[in-house]
Amino acid sequence: MAIVLLSDLVVSQIAAGEVVERPASVVKELLENALDANAKHIYIEIEEGGRKLIRVSDDGTGIPADEVPLAVMRHATSKLRQAEDLYAIRTLGFRGEALASIAAVSSLTLVSRHRQEKMGVELHMQGGEVLRQRAVGVPVGTVVSVENLFYNTPARLKFLKAENTERRHIQNLVGDYAMAYPQVRFVLVQDGREVFRSTGSGALEDVVVKVFGLETFRQMLPVYSEDVLRSRDGSVRLRGFVSTPTLHRSDRSRVVLFVNGRVVQDSGLAHAVTQAYHMLLERGRYPYAVLLLDVPPDFVDVNVHPTKAEVRFQDNSAVFAVVQRTLRSALLQTTHETDNAPSLPTSVVPTATQATLGWVLDTSGTARARRRELLHEREEDLAAIPEGVGKPAKPRTLPPLRVVGQVGGTYIVAEGPSGVYLIDQHSAHEAVIYDELNDYLQREQPIPLHEDVGATVEVRAVQARVLEAILPALARFGVVLELFGSATVLVRAVAQCVPLERASDVVTRLLLLLEKHVDVQTAALQAISTTAAVRIGQRLTHDEMQELVRKLERCVTPLQSPSGRPTLLHMSAEQLSQEFKRRS
Ligand code: ADP
Ligand code: MG
Repeated sequence: MAIVLLSDLVVSQIAAGEVVERPASVVKELLENALDANAKHIYIEIEEGGRKLIRVSDDGTGIPADEVPLAVMRHATSKLRQAEDLYAIRTLGFRGEALASIAAVSSLTLVSRHRQEKMGVELHMQGGEVLRQRAVGVPVGTVVSVENLFYNTPARLKFLKAENTERRHIQNLVGDYAMAYPQVRFVLVQDGREVFRSTGSGALEDVVVKVFGLETFRQMLPVYSEDVLRSRDGSVRLRGFVSTPTLHRSDRSRVVLFVNGRVVQDSGLAHAVTQAYHMLLERGRYPYAVLLLDVPPDFVDVNVHPTKAEVRFQDNSAVFAVVQRTLRSALLQTTHETDNAPSLPTSVVPTATQATLGWVLDTSGTARARRRELLHEREEDLAAIPEGVGKPAKPRTLPPLRVVGQVGGTYIVAEGPSGVYLIDQHSAHEAVIYDELNDYLQREQPIPLHEDVGATVEVRAVQARVLEAILPALARFGVVLELFGSATVLVRAVAQCVPLERASDVVTRLLLLLEKHVDVQTAALQAISTTAAVRIGQRLTHDEMQELVRKLERCVTPLQSPSGRPTLLHMSAEQLSQEFKRRS
């Protein structure tokens, strides 16, 4: 074949392949255009999974009549003027090829009225060619209808997935954008039935509830952080919701990520998210997450991928670190912080944990304030659950669980709203006691003690010297000791939760922890909780188990014992039906 320059139409059809892969990609481009036009309401109609019709109507600024023919030409954009602008893109679109590409492989009708014009324009295209154009009286905004997608590209048509698959894709996509733009109302109608609607209230949590459902939302935590970039002006802001480790699924598809309002499928970012769950989720299990990341426009390159799904940051590792750290600390510290934050760090945070987990406390005031706000809202939502016994003293960190029974004198089997829980009675009790002791300290109340215990422990001289140096601190943390000679320790009093006959075990454990360089407070509280917790093999009555579980439901760290072991395993209803092959 001789070499010829391809006609514009053929070029468009080839390019269309890159931008318009499937019906959902058309929906994505049209949604982005509506959002770029500052729409407040976006109405999406789909027929036959998008193959027959995709229509997106918006109440945005509209297109000036004389620019309408331009809008559907390749490389026609109102959003970019010169290549340098690429480095500071604030709009979702910028290449000016979406409408032209879509028009090349469908019948496209564009109706638009600019907000400063009296009349609108209607433009019909077929296979990339303009058939007719006329003035019409319409409200301000834009309606793009795409009919018979891929009618002239049989190869692509053949590879279209089943209608249901496309439908699901489109629904996920609309839900994702609705979460990224909570201030915009999205309505999705598929084959005449409304399948999704967001309120446009501006509250992310409202949309998350709509998209994921209330049951799932109840097992999600708000995250927020704002980090000033060290290398330059500006900051990295992260906000959103992530699931507690009790809620997970077998694929990554519900880790929804946005960068500057753009949906991205960035494997690096997704990895940073799953890394935050390291040791909290089993291998092959993934969380639910919706995370909105905002960075300075010129800190991110969005022009590295045809559908703009992947992005490149000026400093990838800095961004990933923010994501990981923010999520990790939210996951480990699932409850509210006290208002007098300066007293919080170092003394309360277990330093060993801090170091191994890279846990950095978020000390920025706005972040704290926002987190409190979100937690408060979440609490209100949770408070709406009928509880029977009035307002909870502490916020829930687990859904309400019903004890079913005990297995092997070791595990408590419980049922929750979304599946089955297997709870390690010892680790769970440890977590609960540790939390209760911490509460006393935070309220600046003395830890209740057994007085006059009178047990003695023999220690090495060097250990006695260590203890001697920290006696007053230990007394505050529930371990009142006295030294006799160079190697005898007398336990005068110990936290009331410790059974008397085990008082000396507290000292032994305490010394072990101190040798591992755990700080005094953590070592004391941990030694007490481990000693006081119910043991493995201990039979519990139903009421005892239910009481323990009630406390665990409001424990600050319900998923991990103070020594770092998991307290529970969760099998979701989804997982169970998969295992039993009940999935349709
Ligand atoms: P891009 O979004 O990359 O600029 P498109 O082909 O998607 O390219 O759109 C071309 C131009 O048409 C846009 O730059 C914009 O000016 C205009 N346009 C498209 N859709 C809309 C809309 N819904 N509302 C207002 N203007 C629109
Ligand atoms: Mg566009």
